Amino acid sequence: MATLGTPSNTIEILRKYNFSFQKKFGQNFLIDTHILEKIVAASGITKEDCVLEIGPGIGTMTQYLAENAREVIAVEIDKALIPILHDTLSAYDNVTIINEDILKVDVNRIAKERNNGNAIKVVANLPYYITTPIVMGLFESNVSLESITIMVQKEVADRMQVGPGTKDYGALSLAVQYYAKPEVMLQVPPTCFMPRPNVGSSVIKLTRYDKPPVEVFDENYMFSLIRASFNQRRKTLVNGLTNAANLKVRKEDVVRALEEMDLPPTIRGEALTLEQFARLCNLLLKKSD
Ligand code: SAM
Repeated sequence: MATLGTPSNTIEILRKYNFSFQKKFGQNFLIDTHILEKIVAASGITKEDCVLEIGPGIGTMTQYLAENAREVIAVEIDKALIPILHDTLSAYDNVTIINEDILKVDVNRIAKERNNGNAIKVVANLPYYITTPIVMGLFESNVSLESITIMVQKEVADRMQVGPGTKDYGALSLAVQYYAKPEVMLQVPPTCFMPRPNVGSSVIKLTRYDKPPVEVFDENYMFSLIRASFNQRRKTLVNGLTNAANLKVRKEDVVRALEEMDLPPTIRGEALTLEQFARLCNLLLKKSD
């Protein structure tokens, strides 16, 4: 089987299997060997690594991963792609194909069974329609994970890595930066995919921290505060939090916590750093003791 990452080899496989793209699955296959090489280099995988690939498509990147890693577990939702993958990956004995929805798979079990519970690496050209649930699901599952190197929509990569004071800053930035160090590794134009997406793409690497950069008494509570502040982005933080029914915080407690943090009562949530949200969370929890 020839390397797939060229337009002609991809077309040949698609024709052989009479495959039609499913828009609902976010199917945009990579057709640029240079980009594939760069993604694998950015992921830093070695022959020691067990790699989880989400959405292998026709197996284009899977071939590169199989060459460079010890083992690859590829989870693909579209059953029409499974016979194709068995064909395109027949030369490799270190690839396992799982026909499942990644949002339903027990990644923890995979890491335990395949890698003795040691940290796995995730590498994927993600289906863009479920980028956030996939990334947050991986972090929140507490699976032993070293890094996630993923192709995402350019704007989403920007949101993952910015800090306060920009329009892209939001709950996703804070959630990602609580768990991992984000680094945009490369930009990828629509011409590198078949069919071409309507948006630009970036490869971002999220290297998981051993321990989050801030300490909070209750991380779920901190994320509830963060979500409430950005749900009402144009409101002051005090109003955003006191209007959120699920939080049950009193206005005077938020004002006093902000005072202790030397922040004005008129500040908006979008101006707070992760450290400040963590401090606010801890102050509010102390008050409700
Ligand atoms: N890795 C291939 C490549 O780079 O050419 C394909 C990438 S394509 C952007 C996304 C892939 O994810 C598709 O093959 C699609 O069928 C698959 N996919 C979509 N939703 C999925 C889900 N919930 N679980 C697993 N795979 C999914």
